[in-house]
Amino acid sequence: MSNSQTLGLPSRIARTLSVTALAVFLSASCAKPPGGESGDGPTPAPPLPAPEDQGHTQDEGDDGSPEEGAPGDGPLGSRVVVIDPGHNGGNAQAPEEINETVPVGNGEKACDTVGSETAGGYAEHEFTWELSLLVQERLEADGATVLLTRKDDDGVGPCIDERADIGNDADADAALSIHADGGPESGRGFHVIMPGEVAGLTEEIVEPSQVLAEDIHREYLEMTDVPVADYLADDGLDERTDLGGLTLSTVPKVFLEAANMRNPEDAALLENPEWREQAADAIAKGLATYLMRE
Ligand code: ZN
Repeated sequence: MSNSQTLGLPSRIARTLSVTALAVFLSASCAKPPGGESGDGPTPAPPLPAPEDQGHTQDEGDDGSPEEGAPGDGPLGSRVVVIDPGHNGGNAQAPEEINETVPVGNGEKACDTVGSETAGGYAEHEFTWELSLLVQERLEADGATVLLTRKDDDGVGPCIDERADIGNDADADAALSIHADGGPESGRGFHVIMPGEVAGLTEEIVEPSQVLAEDIHREYLEMTDVPVADYLADDGLDERTDLGGLTLSTVPKVFLEAANMRNPEDAALLENPEWREQAADAIAKGLATYLMRE
């Protein structure tokens, strides 16, 4: 909608992200009593300093700062995050391979799918790949170890069970699958999908995944021009028990449907590289907020 009003923001937000995350870390640490639990259910986000208050902080641009981006160095230094860019560029050419079913704990699902695309031909796999790299960049700048579930945008798969295993094997502190929806053309908006309870599978991750979902939902709503999905009755927070990527996860995990590729207004944002920077800022901030809670 009013995208032009916010296009000046991304670089500034990117520059201040580390500092924002650090501020969250400090306030979260101070707020939590030693060894204490913060109680049941989701907790509100720790207060974040207003962007204006951060204008004096150091520029993380091309100044060659030796410490920038070093894994383990920064407010997210001990954290491991898995980013799962949905689908893959070679899936459409490999139907036998991706249609093969894999067990997902409470049933069977196709190994992977082709994904959606905009009317202009911008494919979901390309979008998820590009956005995932931007999120990775931001989290690594804050010291996190970030693993992606695929190495490029030209391959096939991996299957959804393997994607979940990558987060499990890494014992990730958080995992995020990035998608964009193929919803009704008239509907727009984003939604975050969290795992519902499946006996013997997801009990351990339902609660932390809900907190993760709410952290990403809040920052995404605030920092992008995308409203919550108006074609779903869940205010942008959906609970599902039929997604293998969630039922097979043993670490806190959510899916983000970043917008509706089939809606012209949403598609214009998804196709806009400057908007993608803005979306990556929001996602990284949501993840950082969640990671600082522990
Ligand atoms: Zn998808």
